[in-house]
Amino acid sequence: MATVDKEALRAKYREERDKRLRPDGNDQYIRLTGRFAHYLDDPYTPVTERAPRTDHVTVAFIGGGFAGLVTGARLKEAGVEDVRIVEKGGDFGGTWYWNRYPGAQCDTASFVYMPLLEETGHMPTEKYAHGPEILEHCRRIGKHYGLYDNALFHTEVLDLTWDEQRSRWTIRTNRGDAFTAQFVAMGIGPLHVPKLPGIPGIDSFQGHSFHTSRWDYAYTGGDPSGAPLDRLADKRVAIIGTGATAVQCVPHLARACQELYVFQRTPSSVDVRDNHPIDPQWFAAVTATPGWQQRWLENFTANQAGGLADEDLVMDGWTDIARRFRSRIRAIPPAELSQETMLAAFEDADFEKMEEIRARVDAVVRDSDTASRLKAWYRQLCKRPCFHDEYLQAFNLPGTHLVDTDGKGVERITEKGVVAAGREYEVDCVIYASGFEVTTDYTRRAGYDLVGRGGRRLSEHWADGMRTLHGVHVHGFPNAFIVQPTQGANLISNIPHNLTEAGRTIAVTVRHALDHGYAQVEPTKEAEDAWVELLLSGAGRLLGSPDCTPGYYNNEGHDAGLKGRLNVGHPHGAMAFFGYIDQWRRSGTFDGLAFRSVADRFGRRETAGAD
Ligand code: NDP
Repeated sequence: MATVDKEALRAKYREERDKRLRPDGNDQYIRLTGRFAHYLDDPYTPVTERAPRTDHVTVAFIGGGFAGLVTGARLKEAGVEDVRIVEKGGDFGGTWYWNRYPGAQCDTASFVYMPLLEETGHMPTEKYAHGPEILEHCRRIGKHYGLYDNALFHTEVLDLTWDEQRSRWTIRTNRGDAFTAQFVAMGIGPLHVPKLPGIPGIDSFQGHSFHTSRWDYAYTGGDPSGAPLDRLADKRVAIIGTGATAVQCVPHLARACQELYVFQRTPSSVDVRDNHPIDPQWFAAVTATPGWQQRWLENFTANQAGGLADEDLVMDGWTDIARRFRSRIRAIPPAELSQETMLAAFEDADFEKMEEIRARVDAVVRDSDTASRLKAWYRQLCKRPCFHDEYLQAFNLPGTHLVDTDGKGVERITEKGVVAAGREYEVDCVIYASGFEVTTDYTRRAGYDLVGRGGRRLSEHWADGMRTLHGVHVHGFPNAFIVQPTQGANLISNIPHNLTEAGRTIAVTVRHALDHGYAQVEPTKEAEDAWVELLLSGAGRLLGSPDCTPGYYNNEGHDAGLKGRLNVGHPHGAMAFFGYIDQWRRSGTFDGLAFRSVADRFGRRETAGAD
């Protein structure tokens, strides 16, 4: 680190951030409407007619991605047979159902990313599995736990209303269903509503265009397993965006297109991937002891989120960040250990890592001007870190051109192509790798609002920001659960781990209610308030610093006020939360939840605690 001029780097980071800050923040993006609307249709599975449902189930789950699958699995394990998953796609898989762009792959090691490996007996074929295998694993979980039997696919929830008299939810959908459920749970996914940049002229383009989450293989040729995109050999293609999705699909496009123009506003940091097939013998040894996946999960989390693991089982780019940090912390003499020295150590570790990532660009990309434009000038966790061994290499191919916009973005779309950096690029096809809504309100992304006790809507309850107990339960919304990372562990490097834990919490809660004949369960106001207070007592978000270059981690660089401050995890980190919630579940006292029997509803009002 002797050669790093820290002050110069800080100034460079500030300069690069400032040139990207824009007053419209999230409003720069638009939804896929108008001529793009048909891209939201399901291109993969034909819709089949069915009669509307008007029956009753014990648990309805909205969303058939990992959240619904792992919660459904835990409920089934707990003996709750009557689980109905409602999913807008034609099958299970969630993000892996929709995102079938070439090269789609998990950026987190399969052993910790793919849930329920031990229960289903699946051996991932690669350290970082590709999309088709992950989608197949979703189906495997669905089959293994009998979740297909009662599922409603191609079905969107329009309305969810609490019926206090009958202690149940009424669920109305776009397929005419109006069924009831004693409990509802929701796992709508953090990134499922595709967005487009609101570029002037976006509707005027006369060529072909699509969003990466609805890849048009009929136009490009090829398939999700990586077969060559053989219809692009005579095509000039523009791809707008250079986030995690583009990093994975650009190498495939670069190999196939006559000319590929990659329009870049902010470069991603692209570290080494180092993927490899899994050796069955090694896998057999690793998995010989029961409970192996939980140990791997805990080890992965401990290595980066507040743990003190001496061993690093996964050993990859995610744990590397923490490994460097820890070794620097250990080097500080105990007498000098303070928040200041720790933050300085963190910054030093980050400078070192980012210098390596920038040096890798120089080592890989032959054209020095292109290389200099592909370098990321921000701290590694300012944006979603990327890992790939073919992305930078793609810029060495003669038909692949980086169009760097120096932070300004594409200026305009015309009938013929894309205008950026003062030039019009005529193309046959524009591919939008422009991401998904992240920081917009939950009910906007869900497409429905929950109407809870007394007609109060979730959007009203959360008008000033999210309020929950443990990120799962919401006061005023009895028998409803949400499955997502925020206000829980908030572990972004491995989203499914958050979901699996929430699924466990829901399963024990539902089981307890059923076993004791309780009609309702809900967090007390005091418990929810105390949890929110605990969340606000922390140092704030590790991700999303306002000093960072704009992106969805920091609400495009805009202060989101209380809403932003509530968009956090446990103040002591993911490891602390997982430990806490495990104890909470084991205790059997269900602190913070109020269970009510039917008699309570009409006589005594509140039954504090569990029994
Ligand atoms: P992102 O939101 O990360 O990227 C959108 C890209 O579009 C950015 O590069 C953005 O630039 C660019 N952009 C937006 N507006 C313009 C404009 N006007 N002109 C030029 N460029 C523009 O979306 P992704 O789909 O790449 O990734 C979303 C998330 O999905 C990831 O962060 C990750 O969490 C997840 N993902 C996970 C994977 C996995 O391994 N499991 C794989 C792929 C994605 P700028 O940066 O300047 O805003």
